[in-house]
Amino acid sequence: MTKTVTPKLAAEVMYKADILCCICRDRGDHIHHVDGDNQNNHFDNLVLLCFDHHHEASITGGLRRKLSAELIVRYREELYEFNQKKRQHLLEQFDTPIFQLTSESLLKSSLTALLIIEIEKTKEEYYQSERNVEVLHQIIKYSAYTNERISYVVLSLLYEVSGNTRYGLTTNGAILIGSLVEHYFPFSYEKDRMPENLGLATQCINIAFGISYDALIWLNNLSIASWGMMIYKHIYKYGKHIGSEALLEEVVKSFDELIGTLNRPERNDLDQAIQLVSCFKNDLNRRRMDFPDLPHDLFEIVRSQSNKDRNLSNTSP
Ligand SMILES: [Zn+2]
Repeated sequence: MTKTVTPKLAAEVMYKADILCCICRDRGDHIHHVDGDNQNNHFDNLVLLCFDHHHEASITGGLRRKLSAELIVRYREELYEFNQKKRQHLLEQFDTPIFQLTSESLLKSSLTALLIIEIEKTKEEYYQSERNVEVLHQIIKYSAYTNERISYVVLSLLYEVSGNTRYGLTTNGAILIGSLVEHYFPFSYEKDRMPENLGLATQCINIAFGISYDALIWLNNLSIASWGMMIYKHIYKYGKHIGSEALLEEVVKSFDELIGTLNRPERNDLDQAIQLVSCFKNDLNRRRMDFPDLPHDLFEIVRSQSNKDRNLSNTSP
């Protein structure tokens, strides 16, 4: 009889991995048996991998070098250690023993909790209004009180919203999302808050990607995509401000990925989209926070789509 991985064991593997593929740290979906023996369900023989790396670990024959068991284990140990430290860090940050709290910090924690509840309510409202981005406007006013926790909650919400771009985001909506990102990232310019901000920066890059990708592939709307790419610029500017080469590279990498997804042989209508993304990418080092110089025809498309979009959203009830 085949012994399967029990739900409890699978949960343990996924928890230790924080649902990440140990090789690329993207979402992991497959529990792989390190030694190739599907009957050996010992915890040490299991590892979470994404679809691609599961494939790479399982291939037989072919020219590609297979991921060896030793290599996978090495990656796995590193990820487990990383996750453990991450959790420890969170605990230390948020679980300070209560007797050490001053009344000032108690007040601050209460305020944080209250604002997170308000943000959650706004999220509900957004879905109840059939994804009307305008309802998110009320979140702006809490930004004066933001901290790592609140910024994290807001940016996670915006990431979710960016994934819904294809369901009819407008130029106004994209501008609002960009403005929210600017209000909540970075949550502080203090130098010792840099590591936490770097963690949030990735979320912002994902938001920029989500809006630009959906706008170009699904909506064919260069105006919305342009506002999505202004978010990249904001993050890049912060990267320059703190001198983080890694962050600058991350932005450029996301741009390249975006261009990569637009190179589709089955679509012959994406030339202008590729041109637009390249213009924004090449503009990253210019200091001013406005649109790059666009070739005349591209500029006209962006302008007319923006006008059309903004009139539309003005006349809607
Ligand atoms: Zn992977």
